[in-house]
Amino acid sequence: MGRITLDKITKKFGDVEVIPPLDLTINDGEFVVFVGPSGCGKSTLLRLIAGLEDVSGGEIRIDGSDATMVPPAKRGLAMVFQSYALYPHMTVRKNIAFPLRMAGMDPAEQDRRITAAADVLNLTDYLDRRPGQLSGGQRQRVAIGRAIVREPAAFLFDEPLSNLDAALRVGMRLEISELHKRLKTTMIYVTHDQVEAMTMADKIVVLRAGHIEQVGSPLELYRAPRNLFVAGFIGSPK
Ligand code: ADP
Ligand code: MG
Repeated sequence: MGRITLDKITKKFGDVEVIPPLDLTINDGEFVVFVGPSGCGKSTLLRLIAGLEDVSGGEIRIDGSDATMVPPAKRGLAMVFQSYALYPHMTVRKNIAFPLRMAGMDPAEQDRRITAAADVLNLTDYLDRRPGQLSGGQRQRVAIGRAIVREPAAFLFDEPLSNLDAALRVGMRLEISELHKRLKTTMIYVTHDQVEAMTMADKIVVLRAGHIEQVGSPLELYRAPRNLFVAGFIGSPK
């Protein structure tokens, strides 16, 4: 579970083609980072995979089935938003349970999933607090918890750490990498930060003006960048 295939997908906004035909395979359990400068199409590509935007052409397959026309809630993927998307008036428990309540899930099953997610994220002692009573790192973990309880085939992150301070960002990067090791679920992580890409990814997808310049492991991109853009963008390894 968690294999995603993009087959010649395109995206136009009006007459402007921001994603020209693009092919990409994301394997089950991979940590894939989309990296590239601001405006290169990272968020658009992630939103196409999530179903938050419709493709203008091409096909998206998730675990072998055509998901191109499937609505976001039925794709089995979970988007992790920045922590400011939490509901300030709800407890941590209610924030994490929110997607499950919306889906009308049986309360006992909700409790089982919340307990498991809180355990993995070290939030067990904070379930009855409100977001305002938590640190920035704990708030970001609550936002991740809200995705974990859905038990998705893949997690999608769009620059989740960009509103955290530098020290906290380093800690959260490690936490997300650890989480990936524990859950072994596919993760797609969007960033414009080369260091995040180089330290977190199994596979880096370098984007420029909506197309893929190069795909490879951090070491492959470092050792054999295909062109000056990739070399300049990737910089040095960890
Ligand atoms: P990134 O996340 O890499 O910074 P985006 O995916 O947000 O880039 O944007 C890629 C391009 O698509 C940009 O030129 C942006 O202006 C354009 N774009 C994104 N969303 C829309 C939209 N809803 N309508 C029109 N243009 C858009
Ligand atoms: Mg973006």
